[in-house]
Amino acid sequence: MITAIRGTHDILPGEVEKWHYVERTARRLCERYGYVEIRTPIIEREELFTKGTGETTDIVQKEMYSFTDKGGERVTLRPEATPSMVRAYVEHSLEQVLPATKLFSLGPMFRYERPQKGRQRQFHQLDVEVFAMSDPAIDAEVIDLAWTLVNELGIGQAELLINSVGCKACRPAFQQALVAALGDDLPKMCQDCQRRARTNPLRIYDCKVEADQPIIDRLPHAIDYLCEACAAHFAGVRAHLDAFGIPWRISHRLVRGLDYYTRTTFEVLGQTIGAQNALLGGGRYDGLVESLGGPDRPGIGFAAGLERLVLALPDSVSATRPRRAFVVAIGEDARGAALTLLRELRAAGLAADMEFESRGVRAQMKRADRLKAYVTLVVGGDELARGEVTVRDMATGAQRPVARSAVIETVRTALTGRETTEA
Ligand SMILES: [Zn+2]
Ligand SMILES: [Zn+2]
Repeated sequence: MITAIRGTHDILPGEVEKWHYVERTARRLCERYGYVEIRTPIIEREELFTKGTGETTDIVQKEMYSFTDKGGERVTLRPEATPSMVRAYVEHSLEQVLPATKLFSLGPMFRYERPQKGRQRQFHQLDVEVFAMSDPAIDAEVIDLAWTLVNELGIGQAELLINSVGCKACRPAFQQALVAALGDDLPKMCQDCQRRARTNPLRIYDCKVEADQPIIDRLPHAIDYLCEACAAHFAGVRAHLDAFGIPWRISHRLVRGLDYYTRTTFEVLGQTIGAQNALLGGGRYDGLVESLGGPDRPGIGFAAGLERLVLALPDSVSATRPRRAFVVAIGEDARGAALTLLRELRAAGLAADMEFESRGVRAQMKRADRLKAYVTLVVGGDELARGEVTVRDMATGAQRPVARSAVIETVRTALTGRETTEA
């Protein structure tokens, strides 16, 4: 038996309906906020991520699926969507093509990590990006979109964390203060932190090693080192969130594990797998477009983990399938007429099925039960000769003959009349 690769998973019927629900909610919401969909390839040149995501990040150093293809080119299965979105924005001059470059995308990402519940090597994200807008109001809109998504999905106990990591002008002072504050504690910290202190000190805030936490708690905070422009920008973001009635809390640890973040960073936490986990995270990246060969344009966005969102859905969101009819043929002679009826039902936009292998009526009825058919249509015998079909309501067991010419409308009423609102 050949099994799926570790860290990848099949999304089976019964679960996939929850994915549809999350994806549908996300799409509708993005469209309501004026974001348009873009689909970029899952495979890109490796340098897009070493330059875009950043040479010193854990993603690039440890987690990328990179290989040399048959043409000798280094390629990577995308570990995140933002660099691809930036590439597409630059490559197609989207700011000239679109009235506003507000984009969203849904799809798989790949990172070689230790798999656990809610974390897979092939995982899926909703990615939202805005280019060429720097007003704090757009930061607030992006955060509002993220917050509203989590709320519309019915995910409880959500919490919004925000921070500002400053800009090119003010970050060096913060980094210096950070390294100075580490002082004699640095040799006691984990290997990753010691490396980070040399390559990108901000990333020390990402450390999950228990023993390092008391040291990290004493470190200086980015917001105390913001330049005037960054401080005003962050104040603007908070004022807009207050005006929207969106509750926020500043987390000094929110410096995000990627090189490109500037100013606003944020995360939405939610209750999953019995603990509070990040459902989505993002921030502003004002230098990224230019560093990837584009014009000097700011950007802001977020990525939401679909696995996490699906896990965090309330139990009330369960699998929903269309109500269906089931056609039963009595005897070989009726099979032709039954197949014709089946096809007519489907052509009329109704969900309908039939048993193909077993010819016995009992076996056919059993299949109708297993499929949870709402209505069964029995074709054959005397009714067929009279131009009628027996329509059986599977919930009540009531059945009656219906003229063949009226069957489609009768089934339509039966299936739609009882339709509950789809989740
Ligand atoms: Zn600044
Ligand atoms: Zn550490």
